[in-house]
Amino acid sequence: MDLIVELRNVTKRYGEHVALEDFSLGIERGEFLTLLGPSGSGKTTALRLIAGFEQPQSGQILLEGRDAISLAPYQRNVNTVFQHYALFPHLNVFRNVAFGLEERRLPQRDIRRKVRAALELVDLPGKEERLPRQLSGGEMQRVALARALVLEPAVLLLDEPLGAMDEKLRQQMQLELRRLRQRLGITFIFVTHDQGEALVMSDRVAVIHRGRLEQVGPGAEVYEAPRTRFVAEFTGVESFLDVSFVGREHGEWQFKTTASEILWSAARGESEPPTAASISVRPERLQISKAIPPSPPRNLLRGVIVETFYEGGTRRSIVEFGNGTRLIVREASLTDSTFRSDRAPGANVYVFWEPEWTLVYPRHDA
Ligand code: ADP
Ligand code: MG
Repeated sequence: MDLIVELRNVTKRYGEHVALEDFSLGIERGEFLTLLGPSGSGKTTALRLIAGFEQPQSGQILLEGRDAISLAPYQRNVNTVFQHYALFPHLNVFRNVAFGLEERRLPQRDIRRKVRAALELVDLPGKEERLPRQLSGGEMQRVALARALVLEPAVLLLDEPLGAMDEKLRQQMQLELRRLRQRLGITFIFVTHDQGEALVMSDRVAVIHRGRLEQVGPGAEVYEAPRTRFVAEFTGVESFLDVSFVGREHGEWQFKTTASEILWSAARGESEPPTAASISVRPERLQISKAIPPSPPRNLLRGVIVETFYEGGTRRSIVEFGNGTRLIVREASLTDSTFRSDRAPGANVYVFWEPEWTLVYPRHDA
């Protein structure tokens, strides 16, 4: 493995406050890695440590295999794009992009050539003379990107660069960033609090919670097999059932709900799950029907629709079971008539799923 950036057991405190704790993560050369976590989880701190704007209290930071702690930001082959662009307001687009090259005292001819190439790369030719305030949000972000790329860094750090954009522009920029990375082959470390964005863009996703790394892996792995309850919740699992572990049978774990219903999960590994467990299923992995399905699935609960929401392409329904426990089901949108008869609040339904979709965690309060 060729690690271009490596954080080893890094701890960063601001006064008493621990922003990153014993944080270890390796980023491979050429990959698109996303740091995903809620506000305040330590994402920006991680980028600032890599860029050299902050120093850790303990641990190591390696760039291209070498200890980088003693290197000043400008000595690191790394550039940052910030959420709020941080363009120089009094400089036009050309001068903004040229700034870093001028600092390096490149010949004017080379500067002109490189700036043009960078502006072409981000699809922004012909606007060299504009001032930042004469640009749209998307255009400003492109200038910020060009300004970072023109210095040809080995690693580009992007701190919620699409955070201030409207949904449509964001989706367009997500695809453009992805293509740009593929074309340039440089390493991108991207920060977002939006799980959808992380999944669309990245080779790997690293989930951060309270300064700790919860899980790192390909997006699909993090989404399909969240290792902790936090990762499950942060990626869209909304409700959990309290259960007790009963035993193992034919490679499956058997659980009992507080209302004595029996549920199954695929067994994961050799060790047993905690006796007091919480289980859940992704809303879109649950199926729902009015009658008992023809070949009864392993997990089948009888419940009542409590609430239902139209979401455009999907419909989300809250179903309540014995003892007031609930699961949320998301199905591809239904025709209005089906919805009215089968998904109205008060309707009796069956909810079912295969054991492989059961997610199992230790119970919070146990
Ligand atoms: P994120 O980018 O994930 O929102 P940050 O890395 O900015 O999180 O912050 C992590 C934690 O560290 C937060 O609780 C934040 O308030 C705190 N923090 C960040 N920078 C400073 C600072 N310069 N001084 C004091 N506390 C800070
Ligand atoms: Mg931040």
